[in-house]
Amino acid sequence: MTGYASGTPLIELSGVNKHFGELHVLQDIDLTVGRGEVVVVIGPSGSGKSTLCRAINRLESIESGTITIDGRPLPAEGKGLAQLRAEVGMVFQSFNLFAHKTVLQNVTLAQLRVRRRGKEEAEAKGRALLERVGLLAHADKYPAQLSGGQQQRVAIARALAMDPKALLFDEPTSALDPEMINEVLDVMRALAAEGMTMVVVTHEMGFARASANRVVFMADGRILEDRAPEEFFARPNSERARDFLSKIL
Ligand code: ADP
Ligand code: MG
Repeated sequence: MTGYASGTPLIELSGVNKHFGELHVLQDIDLTVGRGEVVVVIGPSGSGKSTLCRAINRLESIESGTITIDGRPLPAEGKGLAQLRAEVGMVFQSFNLFAHKTVLQNVTLAQLRVRRRGKEEAEAKGRALLERVGLLAHADKYPAQLSGGQQQRVAIARALAMDPKALLFDEPTSALDPEMINEVLDVMRALAAEGMTMVVVTHEMGFARASANRVVFMADGRILEDRAPEEFFARPNSERARDFLSKIL
């Protein structure tokens, strides 16, 4: 595992703050993700992990601080936002596939609309990605005909179809039956090994140990630790992290 990749960070948050009413959900967040880095975010429920992911894609607004993607500040709205959003794919716990579209349509739609590719090109790319996640044979099915693990692999293929510079995963395996977790983690491990830049919120500590360059531990809207996994798991610095690890390991 390498440390920070060279060059400009791909994702950089500096002094980011956000409230939901009285709740200070993101408190002075500084986070840098280098090119090709895999950063795993862990922490108790309600600590702000999902909000952090959503803020990186501006699915949530922020009140102060800056977020830059590949050296460019994330605009609050407009065409620039749509462009930058397309650079950072997102995979959710609940898959979020289009239920009334086939698997192949799910992985081509945004290519046609956002990337303005032609139908043939988009379908060829869609099929190649479905093959990569082991689902080419299911191209003409609808999401409801697939298992949860298969749906999540389609969601990953759909995100990859945009040629994103980075992928955000928010608990991608938490809604899955245990026997399906590995088929999704396998795809994620392969992406990590190929050098995809990834921010992954997960409780899968095996994935964190094997594939993460850094582990970020959040509690109560703050980043309490940001360290190499082997250091973090061997010697968590904060009481909160020790307490959290004792509950999940
Ligand atoms: P995590 O993903 O770590 O479990 P979240 O980012 O989902 O945490 O939520 C952090 C806190 O913000 C929680 O207390 C949650 O209830 C609250 N929260 C999340 N989204 C909203 C929202 N849209 N409106 C109000 N409160 C919210
Ligand atoms: Mg969450």
